[in-house]
Amino acid sequence: MNPFIENPIFLVVVGSLLALFTLLVSLRLISLVRKQQRVQHSIVDLINAELPQTQCGQCSYAGCLPYARAIAKGEAINKCAPGGTQTIRRLSWLLNEQQEPVDPAHGTPTPTTVAVIREEECIGCTKCIQACPVDAILGATKLMHTVIAAECTGCDLCVDPCPVDCIDMIEVQPSPRQWPSTQPSGVVPC
Ligand code: SF4
Ligand code: SF4
Ligand code: SF4
Repeated sequence: MNPFIENPIFLVVVGSLLALFTLLVSLRLISLVRKQQRVQHSIVDLINAELPQTQCGQCSYAGCLPYARAIAKGEAINKCAPGGTQTIRRLSWLLNEQQEPVDPAHGTPTPTTVAVIREEECIGCTKCIQACPVDAILGATKLMHTVIAAECTGCDLCVDPCPVDCIDMIEVQPSPRQWPSTQPSGVVPC
């Protein structure tokens, strides 16, 4: 038998070195995972910034951020009908992907609209408030409701729930986000 192996001090030293090595490897792995998560988050943020924030769900995700997360994992970039060609173009620049037309399975691009409540007909049921994903409607039970136009994304999710059909979607001029755009800042095409 090797006398070193029988020596308890030797065994303690070897054990300590192994424990230290394992600790260092674990810390390094944790650091790498965290770094990867930070990179992933920043990509999601960049993608999300290019989406129209209508939160309409037409992309089949629960909102723009979930769709941005899915795109970061490889989902197609052409499922946002409200964003239309402009959004696809900006995403293709950002991700260096091929531009495709909007996937018709997720709707067709429509003009920019904003909800307007015909206030004299409103019965104050609050159903539109509950349906609005961006809190763009002001009102209270049995009181007239109104839309904050600057907050309205035009998703039209408030229209169907209205029991007296007093919400109109009015076409408006494109916002700066929807004008024919230059490339997203800081992105250099390949
Ligand atoms: S379709 Fe576009 S605007 Fe609507 S939730 Fe999805 S990403 Fe957002
Ligand atoms: S007011 Fe209506 S159309 Fe505007 S964001 Fe809210 S739910 Fe969508
Ligand atoms: S759903 Fe229609 S009736 Fe009800 S509060 Fe909204 S606008 Fe008024």
